[in-house]
Amino acid sequence: MAKKVLVLGEVRQGEIRNVSFEAIAAARQMADGGEVVGLLLGNHSDPLANEMIHYGADRVIVAQHTDLETYVPDAYSQAIMQVIKAENPYGFILGHTSIGKDISPRIAARLKSGLISDAISLEVNGDQVVFTRPIYSGKAFEKKVITDGIVFATIRPNNIPSLEKDESRFGEVTSLNVEIKDLRTIVKDVVHKATSGVDLSEAKIIVSGGRGVKSKDGFNLLQELADLLGGAVGASRGACDADYCDYSLQIGQTGKVVTPDLYIACGISGAIQHIAGMSNAKVIVAINKDPEANIFSIADYGIVGDLFEVIPLLIEEFKSVAVY
Ligand SMILES: Cc1cc2nc3c(=O)[nH]c(=O)nc-3n(C[C@H](O)[C@H](O)[C@H](O)COP(=O)(O)OP(=O)(O)OC[C@H]3O[C@@H](n4cnc5c(N)ncnc54)[C@H](O)[C@@H]3O)c2cc1C
Repeated sequence: MAKKVLVLGEVRQGEIRNVSFEAIAAARQMADGGEVVGLLLGNHSDPLANEMIHYGADRVIVAQHTDLETYVPDAYSQAIMQVIKAENPYGFILGHTSIGKDISPRIAARLKSGLISDAISLEVNGDQVVFTRPIYSGKAFEKKVITDGIVFATIRPNNIPSLEKDESRFGEVTSLNVEIKDLRTIVKDVVHKATSGVDLSEAKIIVSGGRGVKSKDGFNLLQELADLLGGAVGASRGACDADYCDYSLQIGQTGKVVTPDLYIACGISGAIQHIAGMSNAKVIVAINKDPEANIFSIADYGIVGDLFEVIPLLIEEFKSVAVY
């Protein structure tokens, strides 16, 4: 029997997040020749819905209601449940983002189904979909399957490659008016923090600073390098605690978990709690003036030196080759 897999498309500042395209690629694998159905919540346009089709969805449902304009857990849960009931999918996949982490247990509870969270890969093995997810702060990996109910999982950004965008792909976009009632919370206003524009959890390149950066001004230097490389700035908790930067930049066990292609750790000692958030980066470069710093034990490339001398040299070099 053809399998149908539903994918939640997460929209941020008018654009679908990359992790939703990665979720479509995961869904294609799970559907095993069946149908992938995108789901957008809110009053979204056809061109936005078509983006999901260009990345591999067969069709898209746009669930409409004024209460879906911003993320409200009650409203999202009710809308998603109505679509799941109408579509009766074999699987449901979404990104392991702030919204994904918050909404997925609510849906699993309503469905009385299992949930595999933070998966980094999957394989179809006969009738089962086997997900791999990191455990113990990335020190080990476990394989998990759902044996009953909807195959329901969240996927970590930057781990499952999205499919090539194909603008010639065509699919149906349907609007569905959903019923939302008895909301226990409402959002009065959303205040966005000023950011450089590149989303840290999805960034391909991260320039990250620790206590060794010494000041807010020091972080401006990191921002300059990140801007040049088209990346984002991250931080250790040491730097956040010292008020050199905002806590939204914190990477690690109690911060964000990131998997960029390149992670440049500047003035970060490499505490286990920091490593928990970035050890799966594909290439790690560490700049630290202490040759014994633990960060060097996981770095692919290490530069022993003062970051205030090394980073300006890197900026100068990248500017001269103008690769990006
Ligand atoms: C429950 C718990 C949860 C935690 N969660 C997190 C988390 O999510 N993320 C996290 O990061 N931490 C976390 N921590 C804190 C963690 O243990 C460390 O204290 C923290 O990561 C240290 O930050 P740091 O490396 O910036 O600072 P430090 O350990 O002070 O290291 C600073 C480094 O900068 C180098 N340095 C100094 N000056 C220069 C220079 N001019 N040029 C080059 N190098 C220089 C030094 O050699 C040193 O290695 C947590 C701790 C606990 C207990």
